[in-house]
Amino acid sequence: MSIAIAIDGPAGAGKSTIAKLAAKELGFIYVDTGALYRAIGLAAARRGLTAEDKEAVAAMLPEITVKLAFNENHEQIVLLDGEDVSGLIRTPEISMMASAVSAIPEVRAFLLDLQRDMARTDSVIMDRREIGTVVLPNAKIKIFLSASPECRARRRYDELIEKGMDVNYDDILNDVIARDYADSHRDIAPLKPAADAIMVDTSGEDLETSVNKLLQIMRDRI
Ligand code: C5P
Repeated sequence: MSIAIAIDGPAGAGKSTIAKLAAKELGFIYVDTGALYRAIGLAAARRGLTAEDKEAVAAMLPEITVKLAFNENHEQIVLLDGEDVSGLIRTPEISMMASAVSAIPEVRAFLLDLQRDMARTDSVIMDRREIGTVVLPNAKIKIFLSASPECRARRRYDELIEKGMDVNYDDILNDVIARDYADSHRDIAPLKPAADAIMVDTSGEDLETSVNKLLQIMRDRI
């Protein structure tokens, strides 16, 4: 029988990095839900649609297929109508389109079914804001992964400095706080822990410690 693990939490808590490593350890499939929204964004862009064309985007959905698969190097790839679009969905233009189409209820419903189908056929780890509350409310394990705003801002600051960017820690902290507020108060897929989520705080921990902590929680419950 397949087992589903939902990891939700605020931006910058390390969800996707930890989820990918944990999935590898457990032999589960990591489902990059953002990539699915990006594939829809690409399909819309290819049809010349814009963020305003909500009805046309909804009407396009029955005509397309979106799938996650694996290539010969065991890397996850995104297939749009059978074509590998993994690289094409990572442009700034498609980031904007993905964000726009993710606010269309028909797109969310379409991907809700797809994400649930994936969890029915395979053991999966999915991460985002609303996996444990909306997408997989029956997931066997639900984790709400967080870290203090200061800690998440510090991690982001270090990442950007490493890339040679000229950034200010206080600006980043203010962005983190503003994004937390917006994510928790929006109508669509707001950030909130499921009632039965295990709360995990990774403040002050390095990646290895956090991954081991989560793996322990998962192994105890699988
Ligand atoms: O994570 P990523 O940047 O690839 O996500 C692309 C877009 O998809 C996000 O801007 C977000 O609007 C949307 N998304 C979503 N719900 C998810 C995953 C992604 O609304 N579960």
